[in-house]
Amino acid sequence: MNKFLDAIRQADSIGITGHVRPDGDCFGSCMGLYNYIKEQFPEKETLVYLEKAAPEFSFISRSNEIRHTPDEKEYSLFLALDCGSSDRLGSFLPLFEKAGKRIVVDHHISNTGFGQENYVDLTASSTSEIIYTLLEEEKISRKSGEALYLGIAHDTGVFKHSCTTKRTMEIAGKLMELGIPYSQIIDQTFYQKTYVQNQVLGRCLLESLLLLEGKVVASCIDKKTMEFYGAESSDLDGIIDQLRVTKGVSAAIFLYETGFREYKVSLRSNTELDVSKIAAYFGGGGHKKAAGCTMSGCYRDVLTNLCQHIGAAMEQEEAMGN
Ligand code: AMP
Ligand code: MN
Ligand code: MN
Repeated sequence: MNKFLDAIRQADSIGITGHVRPDGDCFGSCMGLYNYIKEQFPEKETLVYLEKAAPEFSFISRSNEIRHTPDEKEYSLFLALDCGSSDRLGSFLPLFEKAGKRIVVDHHISNTGFGQENYVDLTASSTSEIIYTLLEEEKISRKSGEALYLGIAHDTGVFKHSCTTKRTMEIAGKLMELGIPYSQIIDQTFYQKTYVQNQVLGRCLLESLLLLEGKVVASCIDKKTMEFYGAESSDLDGIIDQLRVTKGVSAAIFLYETGFREYKVSLRSNTELDVSKIAAYFGGGGHKKAAGCTMSGCYRDVLTNLCQHIGAAMEQEEAMGN
């Protein structure tokens, strides 16, 4: 018997959460699992807790049931999805900590194994892919499948990043067979941009800098500029991906101001350079080719600091012949 499903069967109340500033995989894995549990175990008291996500994700079934603020409930089972460490749970951490049983499902190289049971697969494209493999395939409905497909499509950059495997494509194929609107999911949640999103993307590209002899491209947006455009943090998704495809660069950096002298940092690598190590050094984490952290200081200091570490890591890679 599947231990993961046994834990669900044995629980009376189940809470599900993901990381702060939920992305497509975080949202998709939580909602894929939530829809499955609601359909297969309707008698259980189940809830999803997530910060507000991109409005484009709201077509996913039962999105209107998501709780955005924590409460005092003590769950018999609480699941943390797509989180490498407990601090990534943000305000929902106490809910996780006081639950009878705590399960982690994740695919980050930086995962600390903070659950009592940890389903961590570094070879999985996404947490949504792991959730698919943990569930009974024939019981995955179209509603649940749409969410899992959203998660897989987002974390693979629509099936193009190096985390995409044959298994990823096979699972995506099986989800397509459920009759999900796969073109629409990709177009409306990944490629389609609002006018504001395009404006900030354009501005960030225009102001991008080539650093470290053209091996690194970097850009930043401050709070004032975001306010000027009326942009939220979810409007910045995809900027780092456009920076990354700049011809000739090994790495891309994108920063946005989250508070006074505080920046959210996104890092991407096109080479053997492991950006999860750089992010981990600054208290964050992620994957080898996509990682993030939060840093303090003025924009120039943050960028200089990052470049020093990236430059040193690149030299080390070159010395090793990579
Ligand atoms: P992002 O640049 O925010 O798209 O994040 C890239 C990857 O790094 C994602 O898999 C995130 O879950 C992870 N990540 C981003 N920020 C952090 C952080 N502060 N701590 C740990 N992991 C992070
Ligand atoms: Mn994520
Ligand atoms: Mn993920």
